[in-house]
Amino acid sequence: MGTGRDYIRKGDAFTLKVRRGEGPPCAIHWQRTGTGRDFYTRVPVHQCHALRVAVLAQGVRDHAQRLSEAKGGPVDAQALAGVLAFDWKPLGAAVKVRGRDEAPAEGEVRLTLETSPTGPAGVGVRYWITCPRCARRCGVVYGSRWNHVGRTPAQPVTGCRVCLGLTDESRQSHKCLHWASAVMGERAYTADPSGRYRQRGFMTHERAYEIYMASFRRGLRGLGLTMPGSE
Ligand SMILES: [Zn+2]
Repeated sequence: MGTGRDYIRKGDAFTLKVRRGEGPPCAIHWQRTGTGRDFYTRVPVHQCHALRVAVLAQGVRDHAQRLSEAKGGPVDAQALAGVLAFDWKPLGAAVKVRGRDEAPAEGEVRLTLETSPTGPAGVGVRYWITCPRCARRCGVVYGSRWNHVGRTPAQPVTGCRVCLGLTDESRQSHKCLHWASAVMGERAYTADPSGRYRQRGFMTHERAYEIYMASFRRGLRGLGLTMPGSE
């Protein structure tokens, strides 16, 4: 690639952003040994430590239950959620419940809960985690083992999916040759539990075929050949 005529290697948009220091708080750094090319990609969600709000909400309900048994009277779980803090250690997957006035320990990330009414009459309570980075209400908090330059810090970089700039595995391989071969049924598609690519748009198969043929043409051109009907 680097030896082609009029070809200037610029790098992809995401890599340039990371190099300028404008990228998300976490990214993966790659280096191709053959070409020496180095680049960055977004961190996929499934490669992060995750903490779901359902786990914490259950913790609050259990805590309220224990308190009401000890006191012999009802305890409002929603009010309790407002005074508790959850100190999360992504590496050990441990959560410590403390009062908000107590300080978290070394290496722990302090998480707090918010509530909002839910249901037709507003009688239910929905719990949210406040993102420790952007203060947005979110359902899952993630911990990435890569930092903004792709190195591994002592403590994972934590935040919600949006502010960490996380991605899905299937998004990263969209419209490339690997994706095209899965769409055309030439290999198993591991991102889907069925093992097959589920077609979303009616033109997907045509697009995959185009990508397949374009790759073929590039390969032939590299050998100094042209494919009939390609020009
Ligand atoms: Zn966030």
